[in-house]
Amino acid sequence: MSKRTIMAAGNWKMNKTPGETKEFVNALKGLVAGSNSEVVIGVPSVCIPAATEVAKGSNIKVAAQNVHFEASGAYTGEVSCAMLKELGVEYVIIGHSERREYFGETNEMINKKARAILDAGMLPIICCGETLTQREQGVTAEHVRYQIKIALLGLSADEVSKLVIAYEPIWAIGTGKTATDEQAEEVCAVIRQLLVELYGNDVAEKTRILYGGSVNAGNAKALFSMPNIDGGLVGGASLKLDAFEQIVKHDA
Ligand code: PEP
Repeated sequence: MSKRTIMAAGNWKMNKTPGETKEFVNALKGLVAGSNSEVVIGVPSVCIPAATEVAKGSNIKVAAQNVHFEASGAYTGEVSCAMLKELGVEYVIIGHSERREYFGETNEMINKKARAILDAGMLPIICCGETLTQREQGVTAEHVRYQIKIALLGLSADEVSKLVIAYEPIWAIGTGKTATDEQAEEVCAVIRQLLVELYGNDVAEKTRILYGGSVNAGNAKALFSMPNIDGGLVGGASLKLDAFEQIVKHDA
């Protein structure tokens, strides 16, 4: 069992309005109060004020799903780290496969975003993961190592010990096709070994590595019990109160 605090992080993607956010967070507060897991919800940017306002004083932390790495300027449609920080955001999800695929996010951009997020006093949740073709070609480990190596360029040992990495095999996201506990553990162990190589044992022991890809109320406990899996980044199941509550309370 991991010595690290398990994190249950929801990624709502483009779902729920600000009004629906208030209703959901209000109900979730009571359901997850006092849980052993760190509870995070990644909400659409326009829902952040609603989420942080209702979550105030509870154990629910709010994450953004994206941010721009520049501080300000002519970047129509983007939001900055300072804007998120002022609203009470604590984590920012970066490098999600949907952002890589549909919005051209590269490893270099993810690295710049990680730098900006940490400079603003927030923590990145850095996503990585292979396609089905990459898995079938046997290049999963080298692909994920490459993604994380570039994402972490220039970050200090202290910063890396506090941030979160999410291993999300693309073939398991939103497909209902979860990686087996062993498949998920194997790649999370590869990532931890990379952290040992880059930053040493102490840092590698502290950094949380989540699994994401069709996590649900039925499979969370087994996945989160694996030695190198410190919780989950949860898409679909985080939109449902009962399912997300059960994932948060997987150890109850
Ligand atoms: C995700 O969006 O990061 C994700 C893992 O989605 P799902 O849980 O729906 O597969």
